[in-house]
Amino acid sequence: MIYEPLSISDIMQQYDKTRLENSRLLAQRREEIYEKIPIIKEIEDAASSSYISSVLARLTGDTNPDLDYKTVSQNNRKRTATKKQLLVKAGYPEDYLEPIYTCPLCQDTGNVEQGRCKCFREKIINHLYLQSNLTNILEKENFDTFKLDYYSKELVDDYDFSPYDNMVNILSSSKEFVENFSTKKSHRGNLLLYGEVGLGKTFLTNCIAKEILNKGHQVFYLSANELFQNVLSPYLMNHEKDLAELYKYVYNCELLIIDDLGTELINSFTLSELFEVINQRNIQGKSTIISTNLGLKELRAKYSERIVSRLIDGYTKFKFFGENIRYKKSLNSTNN
Ligand SMILES: [Zn+2]
Repeated sequence: MIYEPLSISDIMQQYDKTRLENSRLLAQRREEIYEKIPIIKEIEDAASSSYISSVLARLTGDTNPDLDYKTVSQNNRKRTATKKQLLVKAGYPEDYLEPIYTCPLCQDTGNVEQGRCKCFREKIINHLYLQSNLTNILEKENFDTFKLDYYSKELVDDYDFSPYDNMVNILSSSKEFVENFSTKKSHRGNLLLYGEVGLGKTFLTNCIAKEILNKGHQVFYLSANELFQNVLSPYLMNHEKDLAELYKYVYNCELLIIDDLGTELINSFTLSELFEVINQRNIQGKSTIISTNLGLKELRAKYSERIVSRLIDGYTKFKFFGENIRYKKSLNSTNN
């Protein structure tokens, strides 16, 4: 993917384009109808020429009652009604020749009386979705589809609470994280999601991402492997200029999600880059969510102390435990 920042003038250009496309479409419709129902063209011509005559009459002081503004408007309303009847009779919708608006609220200008139209915000959110790297997944994975039933209410190992209670807790803290995210401008917190495979860490990350995108914030999702292989290494080692914006986005986006930390190839380069990303984002008050299948001990063994200490101190830690739920899910989907 290529990161493209979005400016107000980009959005305004999108509106220009929409208006142009819609006016072309209307012109096509006119041509089509004039050919099939020529009388409609005659009706429209009569309406506009009588309107012009009425304006002229007013300007020149002509008192001909047929050219009176009220009479002309009345006649034109009748013409419009006839036109609609003709369209419907020929199997078209009655508004087939009316101006076409993709957003009728602002008539594709982006502005309404109170300020920006809601479609303006939607354009920004769509853009954020595209840039997040997550577009398709979020349809299926969000807080509405998160199922607690997969987690057992039985105690396991030495834990004082069940996997179910643990998830209830994690879920409510995650929602709190989302809430805080929209109220604060920076230092909105970081999350470290850790525990064994198949316990719903990535799913939960996607739930959080979706909520935050919907609130109009930037989210950038990368697996640890993608982060190093597709962005950091090619940019820093091969100087790939195309990646400059994406590289900056790793550091500047409002929420960076690094999924599956520990699956990347670890060497001195990736260690120092990971530290830079974590540290710089902390300093700038940008949020990061990291998920990993490694436990805290394993993290310590794999990564340098300065990385791990930043994760321990600066991140709210959610430990996932219990039975692998992927298996339960796959059984469930084959039964459905
Ligand atoms: Zn609008």
